[in-house]
Amino acid sequence: MANKYVPEPFRIKMVEPIKMLTRQEREEKIKEAHYNMFGLKGEDCYIDLLTDSGTNAMSSFQWAGVMQGDEAYAGASSYYRLRAAGQDIFGYQYIQPVHQGRAAEKVLFPVLLGPGKFAVSNMFFDTTRAHVELAGARAIDCVVEEAKNPAKRAPFKGNMDVKKLEELILEHGAENIGLVVMTITNNSAGGQPVSLENMRQVSQICKKYNIPLDIDAARFAENAYFVKRDEEECKNMSIKEIIRCMFSYGDMFTMSAKKDGIVNIGGLIGIKDEKSPLILKIKANCISYEGFYTYGGLAGRDMEALAIGLYEGINDDYLEYRIGQMEYLASRLDDAGIAYQSPVGGHGVFVDAAAMFPQIPYYEFPGQVLGVELYKEAGIRACDIGSYMLGNDPDTGKQLHADFEFTRLAIPRRVYTQAHLDIIADALIAIKERAGQINHGYRITWEPPILRHFQAHLEPVQQ
Ligand SMILES: *Cc1c(COP(=O)(O)O)cnc(C)c1O
Repeated sequence: MANKYVPEPFRIKMVEPIKMLTRQEREEKIKEAHYNMFGLKGEDCYIDLLTDSGTNAMSSFQWAGVMQGDEAYAGASSYYRLRAAGQDIFGYQYIQPVHQGRAAEKVLFPVLLGPGKFAVSNMFFDTTRAHVELAGARAIDCVVEEAKNPAKRAPFKGNMDVKKLEELILEHGAENIGLVVMTITNNSAGGQPVSLENMRQVSQICKKYNIPLDIDAARFAENAYFVKRDEEECKNMSIKEIIRCMFSYGDMFTMSAKKDGIVNIGGLIGIKDEKSPLILKIKANCISYEGFYTYGGLAGRDMEALAIGLYEGINDDYLEYRIGQMEYLASRLDDAGIAYQSPVGGHGVFVDAAAMFPQIPYYEFPGQVLGVELYKEAGIRACDIGSYMLGNDPDTGKQLHADFEFTRLAIPRRVYTQAHLDIIADALIAIKERAGQINHGYRITWEPPILRHFQAHLEPVQQ
């Protein structure tokens, strides 16, 4: 039986019309887009689950904040409000706005990484991996084994494998590990949370070997919710106390605020210690690439909306509703026997496309197959988180074989209703019923050298 839907802790004041194209129109549109989800127009998608990033609905308070944005080039009051919110929530002294998460990576990573260096993470998000590589270093994923088995229900499947982390440090030499990155929640493993205990252990290892620890904090609030729900020692702590505790284990954070910050654009870098020698280098890179360090590529109004959104994102009622949406959709898939990364994570349902299409090999991209089918079925746009996204080995150019082949249904915050979630579940059920008749996937006909999934052209492999 499906879970009870947690009602929205808000009402709707403004609406945005959407429409569904006919099946024939959808088939034409996806072909024109070279079977790349990023090539579709937003208006041609009925339910857009491509990402939960920047697709959030802002509150009346945030919109009111937009009107109060201070657009001073240097020292805007909106910057000071954002800085105060960041200092209060995370407990870090230096708070640097940037325009989004990858900007934080671009500004920070070259300061810590270079040729011959390695960065180790519980799992790198795609742009994070790209910025490690652009800095000349190599990225190594080090997630716990159970994350690789979508059917295995275990708490904290986003955790770092601490034993393997220490082995990697010894194998490559501590002096060559420029950075350890803790991604909370673990996006690529299915929005799976990281436990406070795991963060503590990773922090101890980093201290032992004198390696800086960066928290990739896009979904810090969702992570805190899971920690409170599932970690015994945290049951009686407030979400804010848990967040303070999580961040106390890092030295710095890079954050895409387009997720739990509940804004449409924005990012942050945080440095715990205001005397850190990193800060001058960050300011220099920020001024070159992003903008003066009191706005970092954001308008004053964006900083104002973010200062408010950071607090709305850690509200208990909001988080219960937010994770409740995931649990509702996941429970409908349970009823239908559709496999996904379980238990469901924080920002979406990661459907196990390899389980739905066991006949399709990784190099024909099962996650992409399910994405295209969802679009054809009901105008739903999702994306592949699998071998198609992972791409080629930067040294050999060979297609990599991902640990999983997911189709990610990322749920935008405060945007879709229970009825929309039902349409998504019904579409997946209809596809599952005919999955056995789909025998081939896709081949790439053109691809750029890095972050190919955003731009590549694909075509169906002929029967
Ligand atoms: C989204 C995301 C990023 C990159 O942020 P952008 O705002 O998209 O540039 C980095 N890491 C994680 C874990 C993310 O989810």
